[in-house]
Amino acid sequence: MSYSVDDAEINKSKPLQTYDVIIIGSGPAGYTAGIYTSRAKLKTRIISGTLPGGQLMTTSEVENYPGFPNGIFGPELMMNMRQQAERFGSCVVDDEVIRVDFSKRPFVIASHSEICEAHSVIICTGATPRKLGIRAEEQFAGRGVSYCATCDGPFFKGEDIVVVGGGDTALEEATFLTKFGRSVRIVHRKDSLRASKILQEKAFENPKIEFLWNRVISNIEGDNKIGAVIVKDVNNSNEQKLSAGGLFVAIGHEPNTAIFKEQIALDDKGYIILKNHTATNVDGVFAAGDVHDYRYRQAITAGGFGCMAALDVEKWITERKHS
Ligand code: FAD
Ligand code: NAP
Repeated sequence: MSYSVDDAEINKSKPLQTYDVIIIGSGPAGYTAGIYTSRAKLKTRIISGTLPGGQLMTTSEVENYPGFPNGIFGPELMMNMRQQAERFGSCVVDDEVIRVDFSKRPFVIASHSEICEAHSVIICTGATPRKLGIRAEEQFAGRGVSYCATCDGPFFKGEDIVVVGGGDTALEEATFLTKFGRSVRIVHRKDSLRASKILQEKAFENPKIEFLWNRVISNIEGDNKIGAVIVKDVNNSNEQKLSAGGLFVAIGHEPNTAIFKEQIALDDKGYIILKNHTATNVDGVFAAGDVHDYRYRQAITAGGFGCMAALDVEKWITERKHS
């Protein structure tokens, strides 16, 4: 058997499995799609990627997902979704897709441990936190620089904390970090926020949070771990040193579409372009969630798109069987 994917390191001794649908990614979009396709009796495999459960695994309480009047913790919500998909027969594997070949039928999906075939695919690979892009960022990653307040906040008890960004994540993380930090400063490159009004109000009311407007981080200083950040005024380039034991980068996300570059149509920012509801430009390949949706980017909308993609797959498979 020959594949055009370069499969040299993949275990080819495993028997080849063919699925009605392979769902790539296990955030709200992937699990919701799996609930629908497996409940519709389609043979479904969900390949979870390196962040099983997706972005909500990195957050604490989710207050805006319907059905939970008192809120629910992100990881708990995602474990529930996984169990619900498995209950209907979705086979969830914790592996990462490294190559796909959408030029063949069935499609070929290669992960670290195996190659599978699929009549249809739903791409739900979401998005990854954006980096500041300054050299010291990498040097201090894990030594004061963090991209996840929920994961790392408790390590910063009594520290001066700096959060970068002006969106929901920055404000939510800054508010959460006031539980641990001595001070929390939000550095934002503009003089207004894009975060939702309710999160803005919470942050403005919080006496531990201070805003530094029209500023960017130009450098990070320290020995083994961060000691200070250098903040530059974007209007006059004046620099200021801030004592900081932690720097939380919350400046948005990049879509996880590198492996699809040569395979399906992407926009100039790398998001998947949809046509005709959840269909991509490749017949039989669908997409759902933050991987195409840079406008809403919510758990409920990702889940909604997952449901739509699953229904579109079901209809697509049925039509092909009849034709
Ligand atoms: P993601 O959740 O990004 O999941 C992507 C999945 O794809 C992951 O499982 C990953 O492992 C997988 N993947 C990636 N590449 C591969 C690959 N090559 N092979 C296999 N799998 C792969 N929304 C709300 O509605 N309410 C909130 O309170 C809220 N809080 C948030 C807090 C934070 C800190 C963040 C970052 C986001 C928050 N959001 C919130 C937004 C919400 O988490 C996202 O909109 C939602 O998770 C998007 O779901 P998704 O399924 O599209 O993708
Ligand atoms: P976002 O909305 O894209 O905001 C990113 C912020 O970072 C913006 O303020 C942006 O500035 C700034 N930024 C981008 N690149 C930068 C750079 N290189 N240097 C400095 N600043 C930079 O991303 P997000 O806050 O992560 O939110 C993502 C999605 O998740 C949103 O849809 C949000 O609603 C959702 N979310 C929801 C909740 C909730 O409902 N509770 C919580 C978290 C996230 P500009 O404003 O100048 O562009």
